[in-house]
Amino acid sequence: MTRRVTLIPGDGIGPEVTAAARRVLDACGIELQWDVVSAGATALEGEGSLLPESTLASIRRNGEALKGPVTTPVGKGFRSVNVALRKELGLYAAVRPCRSRPGVSSRYEGVDIVVVRENTEDLYAGIEFEKGAPSTADVIRVLSQHTKQGLAADSGISIKAISETASRKVVTFAFDYARANDRRKVTAVHKANIMKSTDGLFLEVAREVAGTYPDIEFDDWIVDALCADLVQRPHDFDVLVLPNLYGDIVSDLCAGLVGGMGVAPGANVGESATVFEPVHGSAPSIAGQNKANPMAAILSGVMMLRHIGERIAADRVEAALSEVLIEGESTTADLHSGGDGARIAGTSEMADAIIAKLR
Ligand code: NAD
Repeated sequence: MTRRVTLIPGDGIGPEVTAAARRVLDACGIELQWDVVSAGATALEGEGSLLPESTLASIRRNGEALKGPVTTPVGKGFRSVNVALRKELGLYAAVRPCRSRPGVSSRYEGVDIVVVRENTEDLYAGIEFEKGAPSTADVIRVLSQHTKQGLAADSGISIKAISETASRKVVTFAFDYARANDRRKVTAVHKANIMKSTDGLFLEVAREVAGTYPDIEFDDWIVDALCADLVQRPHDFDVLVLPNLYGDIVSDLCAGLVGGMGVAPGANVGESATVFEPVHGSAPSIAGQNKANPMAAILSGVMMLRHIGERIAADRVEAALSEVLIEGESTTADLHSGGDGARIAGTSEMADAIIAKLR
């Protein structure tokens, strides 16, 4: 049976890596029909909107989308297309597995961490007050009435709000994910010692939820200490659940532990739609040069296949990718440590090599 999914090529290296992922998925033995729509700078140019209604409608209709990274041009109505997309579709959790793989040059072997990032609130909600604006002066005035400390009159302000509801949703998701995927432990990450009303609430909810999952180990870490320990002892960690901002930063750190931005896939999960996308951005400095690593986009596609129940096809793609990585003859520059003498391949050649293994 043909399965219809949405494809958003995106900006920068997005069209190259999603084209590679599409070709690989098309070669894995299942019938996918791609509904190609746009978002980001490309959509603004072509359709006059950064996030066209037709794009949202396609994702809502199909339920699953594979998305390339997008660029949000400064001053074009949106602070971030990604934040808007996640809000519109209620994509409350971002799941980002970071796993070492043979053939990928990195500092460690055997790292296997899943980052679960809250995706809708925290400092990323976009509630901001610009320095010098009349509304900012109002906020400063109200705050000085309610707190003992005044803010400098020339402050810019970003609001950090963390709710019990969103925290419970993402932490419950992390525990359910751990249970469904045979993971041993969930670690809640926070700065509750300083931000008691927001991170403190996140931690309180995490502890409460953890109590209802006696089969999964639970601990919590202060985010700065976690960063040092991730770098020194990454094997100690399993599933991490974090508020939005820490989740964004720690995702990149974990991608760095297993080979860099080109290797980490992700899924933005909602009640009625899931958008699969690499952790990396649009990498403008290598865009259009056939240099970008398609692995994160392909693995995001693999996550999508598993999500729609195509486990055998997903395993086949992952196995083919592993073979190509181990051979190391057809992989992009970022996967080589430099001076290893191996042949460097382009984005499309790497996809060709994976497809050849699928035949
Ligand atoms: P980036 O991830 O694009 O790049 C960071 C570094 O990683 C760069 O050196 C880049 O060349 C490298 N890199 C990234 N992907 C790679 C790949 N597939 N293969 C090889 N190397 C790769 O992050 P950035 O520079 O902070 O952001 C660039 C743009 O992307 C910004 O406009 C940002 O807003 C946007 N962005 C979008 C998303 C998204 O759409 N999900 C996520 C992050 C950043």
